[in-house]
Amino acid sequence: MIKKKRVMKILVLLVSILTINIAFAGCDKYTSVKDELQNKQLNTNKNNSNNINSEKNIADKEEPAKILEDTKEDNSNIITITAIGDCTLGSFPEVTEGKSFEDVLQANNNDYGYPFKNAYNWTKSDDLTLINFEGTLTDATELANKKWRFKGPKEYTNFLTASSIEVVNIANNHSFDYLEEGYNDTVKNMNNADIGVSGNEYICTKNINGTKIAFIGHEVIYEPQDIYDKLKHEISTAREEGADIIVCSFHWGIEYNNMPTPYQQKLGHYAIDTGADLVIGHHPHILQGIELYNGKYIAYSLGNFVFGGNEILYDKKHKDVDTILLRHEINLQDKKISDIQLSIVPFRLSGDKEYNNYQPIVLNGEEGIRIKDKLINLSKDLKYGIKSLEIEN
Ligand SMILES: [Zn+2]
Repeated sequence: MIKKKRVMKILVLLVSILTINIAFAGCDKYTSVKDELQNKQLNTNKNNSNNINSEKNIADKEEPAKILEDTKEDNSNIITITAIGDCTLGSFPEVTEGKSFEDVLQANNNDYGYPFKNAYNWTKSDDLTLINFEGTLTDATELANKKWRFKGPKEYTNFLTASSIEVVNIANNHSFDYLEEGYNDTVKNMNNADIGVSGNEYICTKNINGTKIAFIGHEVIYEPQDIYDKLKHEISTAREEGADIIVCSFHWGIEYNNMPTPYQQKLGHYAIDTGADLVIGHHPHILQGIELYNGKYIAYSLGNFVFGGNEILYDKKHKDVDTILLRHEINLQDKKISDIQLSIVPFRLSGDKEYNNYQPIVLNGEEGIRIKDKLINLSKDLKYGIKSLEIEN
């Protein structure tokens, strides 16, 4: 009898040990599910407070078991983010018949891959692509009382999904071209197409293989004084909510001016001092220099890219058709940024040389080098201007 009890005790002990082992073996999975839950919680909180957008876990495409294995062996991670300047997908009421974005699209069989076709190599191979979305996607007809008013129909989100563009900044001087209705429609249409909306009151977060990236954006052309406190608050909140990388878009500067104003420089530095990791600028419609400030890059203006707001390439105002894709390869070690490699892909903003065909083309060879040298020259006048730059082909 006593012997039987002992055997029972041993059996119970064995079962307990086995149970504990199974629990430990499932630890990684548990952590992963917990992370997922936390991410969801983060999103729910954000959706409640800030209308923050849904995250898209690119890890979904891979086999979960492989990801767990990778995380176990190595705590380093590389995230590639491509940034693109001013994009207007659509047109304006005063456009010449036959020359509008819609006309060119129609002539190209309404192919949603058409405008970003030559950028697709890079937008699809990165983790995330961010563009400045300079316009609206709406059926609204009531116009703002201003000179240029841009819009396209809601289906134009297809240009972004077809081109692997995951995040848009809407903090610019065209997001209210069709007033509140146009603005709200644009946000709604982007959300419905699962495109991350950042800028103004929207902070977008994305989760790439466990790395959380927050996108913040502001239009600061008229130098709002409350921007400093607002930015500080947003950046610290994003960090508290677990962002490993913070990307800040600024719509700023003087149109067709290659030199960042003192205000741009002050705010760019302030954003980095406050905790931003990348600063992406636009609005001047042409390229401005790049700074490396305390280990972080500030690109003051990326220029136009697919720009439905200009039908003609050259006139009194428009003389410059140079543009780029800006690539950031961000290395993380234990979720902290250890290094950022910056490179460019030089582009000309239209394939056609006279009229805008709304399909930028890659510039190779000497033309590409010319754009690289131009950026380095523009950076020379900046206190922390970069001295070299890689071209990615
Ligand atoms: Zn602008």
